[in-house]
Amino acid sequence: MKALYVHIPYCTSKCPYCDFASVPVDDSVEAYLDALAMEAAGSAAPRPLESVYVGGGTPTVLSPERIAVLFDVLRTSFEFSPDAEVTIEANPCSLNPEAAETLVACGVDRVSVGAQSFIASELSFLRRAHGPKDIARSVSLLREAGIDNISIDLMYALPAQTPESWRESLVRAVELRPDHISTYCLTFERGTPLWAALENGEIEKKSDDEEIELYEIARAMLGTEAYEHYEISNFALAGRRSRHNMVYWSNDEYLGLGASAVSYIDGKRSTNLREPLHYIDAVRTRGTAACEVEQIAPRMQAIETMIQRLRLRDGIDCAAFEARFGLHPEELFNGTFTELVDLGLIEHDSNTIRPTTTGFHLANEIALRVLS
Ligand code: SF4
Repeated sequence: MKALYVHIPYCTSKCPYCDFASVPVDDSVEAYLDALAMEAAGSAAPRPLESVYVGGGTPTVLSPERIAVLFDVLRTSFEFSPDAEVTIEANPCSLNPEAAETLVACGVDRVSVGAQSFIASELSFLRRAHGPKDIARSVSLLREAGIDNISIDLMYALPAQTPESWRESLVRAVELRPDHISTYCLTFERGTPLWAALENGEIEKKSDDEEIELYEIARAMLGTEAYEHYEISNFALAGRRSRHNMVYWSNDEYLGLGASAVSYIDGKRSTNLREPLHYIDAVRTRGTAACEVEQIAPRMQAIETMIQRLRLRDGIDCAAFEARFGLHPEELFNGTFTELVDLGLIEHDSNTIRPTTTGFHLANEIALRVLS
């Protein structure tokens, strides 16, 4: 798999729970796109690209003209495979017919819509600019423009969310029949306003048991609607897994462009500066914004791959793993393989090691034991 990630760090405003590299859109956009063009021109990407993912931030806060310029830059610098998956992230409010037509003209064939919830009070708690009706409207206009591969993001474990309101969001999402649904557990990131509200006792975090209950509701409901639960947080109709994210979960190579973007090529992981203005400055003056570069030792590459693959229901194909790393994955479990099997967190047959349903809940636990 050959993949490119492009980060657009602008949003209409900053959501109170957000820890992504994103800032309210300002007049640095032009300079940012120029810096992206410079970074792209100076980067070697795997050829041809089989997946391109433009994320953020909210890339669709850019005007249609700027989105067109961005894709011109990318197509000038890199070769896209004719059947490349080309995804862009969008918020329901940032889509209109003109924007959708521009995306199609740019070759975008998959849109990930940040719906988060279909309950008005939950959206307002998250301070999202859209309402429930905007989600259906944005999905329709994408389909009318010709984009038939649509993913919807939903969030669970919001403080005031109930099993009933979560079911309602899932039902409303499924009614739109998106090809892919991601369900993310709300996390309280240090330094965010939501973290402060938690610290001040203004809101309460759901307990682990409540989180698991909501997670199980999603698994059960989406399972009966033919969505395959293929990764901890992700569900897809047949043939509609996120090809781009499969690159990350397989620990394959990718190039990342833009503020905070990460690249992983030849076992080297490099991370760009996070602040857009610092990024612009660095690319202008040094031609690169990489601020952390780490060469991952071959054994650690194998361990990281194993941990990533255990996020997937498919798990690890041991023969393929051995062909890639010259090691059987069982050798990398740090003596915890039998223990993890006995605890019911992983299961195996002659060639596959995969997480159990409990292992899906406790993926971090598996990773900690392997790395300790
Ligand atoms: S829209 Fe997404 S990236 Fe932007 S501030 Fe909200 S959560 Fe963060």
